[in-house]
Amino acid sequence: MAKTAEVKIAIFGRAGVGKSALVVRFLTKRFIWEYDPTLESTYRHQATIDDDLVTMELLDTAGQEDIIQREGHARWADGFAIVYDITDKGSFDEVLPFKNLLDEIKKPKNVTFILVGNKADLDHSRQVSTEEGEKLATELACAFYECSACTGEGNISEAFYDLCREVRRR
Ligand code: GDP
Ligand code: MG
Repeated sequence: MAKTAEVKIAIFGRAGVGKSALVVRFLTKRFIWEYDPTLESTYRHQATIDDDLVTMELLDTAGQEDIIQREGHARWADGFAIVYDITDKGSFDEVLPFKNLLDEIKKPKNVTFILVGNKADLDHSRQVSTEEGEKLATELACAFYECSACTGEGNISEAFYDLCREVRRR
């Protein structure tokens, strides 16, 4: 018989990397060009993953909150997507600080998360190579996806579903 489960996921990453665009793409299969950057939203989404009905709660953080708010988000969620923008090296450099914060909050548990390099459609302005993304993911022992919320390339849905699977295995 199918089981129902609830999985709480928070999306972390510097402001402007495309967190909202990714969440909206995942939920609606559409791309919204402009999305209020200061907005923090939670969405509920039901999906059937491997024959189980899963209710996903997605927290789209603004990426400009203070440390107290950030720690609250880290405590709330079971799984995380840490997003950077392949055209913004600075956003890539912020991945590790995000991961360290999660480790700190979740210890002694291992943090369940995926690494997402967004804006893959902007290859001409790329500042972070696919290899660098893969290397960091290997070091952090997490799954890695390069994708584009704009074109939909990179299978964003699978990234979110894999994260759910990973959370439920723990
Ligand atoms: P957030 O602050 O991380 O939520 O970022 P947003 O989702 O608001 O996106 C920031 C800007 O990047 C917006 O102007 C989006 O249109 C743009 N953007 C987001 N994802 C992509 C993408 O995959 N490709 C391109 N070309 N632009 C994107
Ligand atoms: Mg946003």
